Amino acid sequence: MKLPKTIKIGGVDWKLNWGIPEAGAEDKFGETRFGGSEIWINPGQSPNMIPSTLLHELIHAVLLNAGAKTTENGVRALEIGIGQVLRDNKWLADWLKAGRVV
Ligand SMILES: [Zn+2]
Repeated sequence: MKLPKTIKIGGVDWKLNWGIPEAGAEDKFGETRFGGSEIWINPGQSPNMIPSTLLHELIHAVLLNAGAKTTENGVRALEIGIGQVLRDNKWLADWLKAGRVV
């Protein structure tokens, strides 16, 4: 699936960019820039890593929106944990989107 140009986080459209935000950041998988509401995804990484990288950056954006502080390891733990739960329970995302118990 092609990556959309924007993603809504906390009621704000964040721009999704394929690329490296600045020289010297070639080794980063992704980056979240709160001020510009931008998420950058490095296209040079393995295609298998890109969904996890996007989830990782989304978690950064959600935490920044909430003014919550955590460590990079905390973000990584949420990325791995939430990603695994979603992959192991294919029904969960649709059920959450429904917003109610049927
Ligand atoms: Zn991070």
